[in-house]
Amino acid sequence: MRGEIANDHELKGATNALRRARPHTLLWRLIRIVVVFLPPVGVIAAMILLWGGYFGPLYLTLFVVMYLLTGFGITIGFHRFFTHGGFKAGPVIVYTLGILGSMAVEGNLIWWVATHRRHHRYSDKEMDPHSPHVGRKPGILGTIKGLLHAHMGWFFNSDSTRTDSQRYAPDLLADPRIMAIDRLFPLWVVLGLLVPASIAGAVTRTWTGALLGFLWGGLVRVFMVHHVTWSVNSICHFWGSRNHETGDESRNNFLMGILGLGEGWHNNHHAFPSSARHGLTWRQIDPSWMVILMMRQLGLATAVKIATPPSSHDHKCTSIVRSVHMRPGKSLSR
Ligand SMILES: [Zn+2]
Ligand SMILES: [Zn+2]
Repeated sequence: MRGEIANDHELKGATNALRRARPHTLLWRLIRIVVVFLPPVGVIAAMILLWGGYFGPLYLTLFVVMYLLTGFGITIGFHRFFTHGGFKAGPVIVYTLGILGSMAVEGNLIWWVATHRRHHRYSDKEMDPHSPHVGRKPGILGTIKGLLHAHMGWFFNSDSTRTDSQRYAPDLLADPRIMAIDRLFPLWVVLGLLVPASIAGAVTRTWTGALLGFLWGGLVRVFMVHHVTWSVNSICHFWGSRNHETGDESRNNFLMGILGLGEGWHNNHHAFPSSARHGLTWRQIDPSWMVILMMRQLGLATAVKIATPPSSHDHKCTSIVRSVHMRPGKSLSR
């Protein structure tokens, strides 16, 4: 009897693990198509309305504020905090960053983290979920195909999207706060679209205002955050400078450094994955680092990990920061 119960338990565990590893029902495929292609439709609608004079400072403000909030949710939250444990923070910051990052509509938190850790584990090698180089055919067509795969094509490739969160993110699965944020992902997505629509509707007291708020603070903003984040995967593994020998094709790219709120200093990041600071010199502008610095001053971020700027200490620092980076199964205490 005990044996039967144990077997039943094991079977349930194995099935659950499989479900986590393979969220590939038809519904998920449809959702993925909507997530990738609905924002461009919103951009076209916003452009047509703009042509007709439907725009103003309110909508521009909603776009910029929502871009920064959800963009930092990804760069500071999903990436530097949840994936790499670049600093520690209390529950309010954990929830805030988790919810804001979810509003960027780039997938649920645990899947995002597991996929990105896999990217670091196999960067530009066979198992990398979104390398522009793996399997690339020669010539310009091969290059374009590789870049398209790294940018957004990988969403439609089950080998790329199937990442076992038990293997790559056991620390997050063990944290009930993170599980709650992760499970409520659809709610955060809807809120991220409804909040700007409601603000614009309340300010203008018109349905047209609500629609424009939905478009600019919602879909157009999601479109921008998506393509800037995805450009880090494609462009920042292709064009730019290399300050560190990282064994992959990661690059520091100035334009993506600015647009990506500091994430474009991607070669630095691959050299020092746990560092909360990616732009390592004053010339390498890193808005996400500036916010983390402010959070540290306010006591909202503690135990902040920082790679020293490239110098004679460079080699030593690489070994220090790398040694704390993502050991499988290691819990990131917060
Ligand atoms: Zn990378
Ligand atoms: Zn990373």
